[in-house]
Parts: sequence; structure tokens; C-alpha cells
Amino acid sequence: MVSPLQYTPIEEIQTIHDDLGKTFRAGKARPLVWRQHQLRQVLLMLRENEAAIVASLDADLRKPVAESLFGEIALPAQRAEQTLASLEEWTKPETVTVDAWQQPWNPTIYKTPKGVVLIIATWNFPWSLVLSSLIGAIAAGCPAVLKPSEISAHCAQLMGELIPKYVDQSAYRVVNGGVKETTRLLELKWDHISYVGNSTVARIIAAAAAKHLTPLTLELGGKSPTVIDAAHTDLRLAAKRILWGKNINAGQVCIAPDYILIQRDYQDALIEALKEAYAVMEPNGALGSSTYCGIINAAHYGRLQGLMGRTTGQLVMGGKADGKKFIEPTVYKDVKGGDALMEAELFGPILPIVPVDSMQEAIEFINDRPHPLVLYVFTDDAELKQAFIDTTLSGTLEFNDVIPNVAGLPFAGVGESGYGAQNMKYTFDEFTHNRASVDIPFSTKPRMSKVWSCEANMYNIL
Ligand code: NAD
Repeated sequence: MVSPLQYTPIEEIQTIHDDLGKTFRAGKARPLVWRQHQLRQVLLMLRENEAAIVASLDADLRKPVAESLFGEIALPAQRAEQTLASLEEWTKPETVTVDAWQQPWNPTIYKTPKGVVLIIATWNFPWSLVLSSLIGAIAAGCPAVLKPSEISAHCAQLMGELIPKYVDQSAYRVVNGGVKETTRLLELKWDHISYVGNSTVARIIAAAAAKHLTPLTLELGGKSPTVIDAAHTDLRLAAKRILWGKNINAGQVCIAPDYILIQRDYQDALIEALKEAYAVMEPNGALGSSTYCGIINAAHYGRLQGLMGRTTGQLVMGGKADGKKFIEPTVYKDVKGGDALMEAELFGPILPIVPVDSMQEAIEFINDRPHPLVLYVFTDDAELKQAFIDTTLSGTLEFNDVIPNVAGLPFAGVGESGYGAQNMKYTFDEFTHNRASVDIPFSTKPRMSKVWSCEANMYNIL
């Protein structure tokens, strides 16, 4: 397929950067009413272009319509609406309670926009990822360059066409391109960079940001383990929930359950439950189903096929592919820690089952590997839940289901899965500087205190 994507000329990138700097310094992006208007424009764009957005996702991913409507349109729209509803509260200067003798100094934290930000996103939720960060930047009063992934080329092209029609171009610009264009962007000085993608490129981004001491938000991925304590869980319900979560976007989700750890004796019962759940979810099989997503491109399709060819695990469900775009949900049992399927994040519809002899072994297995973005644990054993809370580390810890993302909670990696948090107010916070301020009255006659008298002596003012 010929890419529809028109890249931004490299020589324009410096000008775009400088123009946004001028907009920021002129204070244009700061007034609350202006920010609110931009957020309403994002909502309008989503409302007026639903069919075109769904078509762009179909062209890139063959994303099912329901998944596009929910994950790529309703979700960012809900974020824009909730941000609109909360913006006044978030941006209010925060008064701080301090020692009584300092209270007359009016200690205040001003929610100050950091400046011009760079937003680099990936292809699995092309619209949602770019727009969620854009909403946060608008809310914080920061002009932004948006760099969608060139891999989801139809979406990136449409973003380049639509976004300038709805939000103020002097503050928000789409730069399209690949490595060359992103490299040029990274040479420039930004006031914050938000990057969503893999941890190899994250290191390139972090090194470039370090040159300018630019703060970063890194939303990365990794292998999110799913532990099933089969003795204390409803196995059929767990299977249904895990398969549902794994099937979204054909497993191309940063928080997809990557692999299962389960007590060895229950492995076969789990496989039966997964097959039962699959038969209900996709009675005619996933290949060719209108509710099942495709693999983004030939390179990723080939990567997944390669892994399926190299694993020594035993194929127990699925395994078929259409030779081009679709791979059905595929489960392997008796997968070992050193297997090909355990080398890196799968980011596709393959689910390896790694049997363990105990929950302690599951904990050690997880702790022997980089900190995952999410850790899922199915159990109703309170002591075991506590053990996972106390002895493991992951971006998020979720018991007894997969995927759900709660608006009031931070979405954040840790270690290899990233740093900095996103999600509504947390995205706003990433782009906001907490500017501490005191205003000491000329008339202040501070009460004596140990600290003050010490400072006062130092400055020789008593
Ligand atoms: P990708 O290849 O689209 O890369 C992401 C961005 O980085 C793109 O905009 C691309 O142009 C840019 N890029 C690529 N190579 C570059 C280079 N050498 N220098 C500068 N920029 C470069 O996407 P990907 O990295 O394959 O994305 C998949 C990963 O993203 C997975 O690991 C997934 O788990 C993760 N992810 C994380 C989240 C999250 O919120 N934590 C969400 C979605 C995806």
C-alpha cells in the first residue's frame, strides 16, 4: 500500500518551533477561556469527523468500528470533557499551610505552564494517544508540536489535516515524518517532551533531552505478567477477562496481558476455559471477523510469525493466520522463561502460559525481570494480594481483571516501563510547573523562633 503520509519539510521544523515559542511568550495560550475554547474545538473535531477517523483507523489497522468509536473517539472526548469540567480547579493557585509565623508571607503555588512541549506518539492508539497528550498540553497552557507515528500513516495524515482546522495553529502544530524529522525535532530545545513508544527509542529521546536538561514523560511498554492463583479464583471468569483484554487491538496494547503464570496443575483447566471463552467471543473464529483487529504492518506481522516459528511452547489454541494482516488469538502452554516468546513484549495476539509450582515462584519470576507497566493478579486470597503489593514493583497493579483504566489514577511506568505519569490531571501536572511563591510584607515583624533567630542573626537584622 502506498503511504498517504506527507512528511513535514525538515527545514520548516525550526520555524514551527520558534513560532510556538513566540506564542508562548506572548501569553496567548494562558487565559483560561482560551484553553477552554481549544478543548471545545477538540471535542468538535471528534464529533464532526467520526466517520473519517474510523476510516483512517480501518486503513491502518483494520481496527473494528466499536474499538475505534470507544478507544479513539469516546475516550479522548471524555477526557476533553472532564478536563473542561475540572480546569478551573486545576489551574487555581494553591495556598499552602505553613508555620504560623510564615503564613503572612502568603505562600502560594502557581500552576504555571512549562512552555512549549513536544509530544511524540506511537501507532497502536494513534488518535487517543496524541489527543490525550494534546488535551493535557492545552489544559496546562502549553503550546505543542504533535508528532504522530508515521507507521499509522492514514491517521497521521488525517491528524495533519484536521487538527489545524480546529485548534489554534499558532499554538498547536502537527509535524509528520519518520526518524529524520523526529531527530530534527529532538535537536531543538523544548520545555517538556512526552514520548509514548518502545524503550529502545526512549533512550534516544532521553539522551537528546538531556542535552537541554528537558524534563521527560516516558510511557513505554514491556511484558505485563498475568498471574492466576487458580486455587483462589474463578478460572472461567479469569479466562474470559484475560482473553477479552488480549483481543483488544489484537494484543497491540501496552497494557495487554503479555503472558500467564499459573500453578502447573491448573494449566490444562485454564486452556479449556480460554477455548470456551474464545468460542463465545468469536463463534466463527477471529480471522475475517469484523470485531477483530489486524496487525499494523508487514514487519510486525512477520515479527509475530517469526516468534511463533521459534517458540518451543506447545500450541494449544489458535495459531492460524491469513498470510497478510490477521493472526488469530494464539495460546502456547509449557513455555519456559528463556523461550523466544519471553524475550520481549509480544505486542500481538500471542499468549504464552508459563507454569509455576507456587505463587512464590511466580513472584520471583516477575522480580527477576524488568519492572512491567502493569501486573495483573487473579486471586481472592487477601494474604497473597498483600504479598504482591509488598514484594513486587510495576507501574500499575490490578487484581482480578485486565485493562480497565480509572480516570482518577495515575497511568505510569516504573523502571524499564517508563517514568512520569499521564491520565487527565496527571497529564496536566506533567506539563505544569509548581511555581512556589511568597510575598513578604514590608511591615513584617517576624515572631522570634529558633529558626528565625538563627537566620536573623545570619543576616544581622535583629
Ligand atoms: P513507533 O515505531 O511508532 O515509535 C514511536 C514514535 O517514536 C514514533 O512517533 C516514531 O516516529 C518515533 N521514533 C521511532 N524511531 C525513532 C528514532 N530512532 N529516533 C527518534 N524517534 C523515533 O512505535 P513503537 O515504539 O513500536 O511503539 C510500541 C511501543 O509503545 C510498545 O512497547 C508499547 O507497549 C508502547 N506503548 C506504550 C503506551 C503507554 O502509554 N505506556 C501506550 C502505547 C504503546
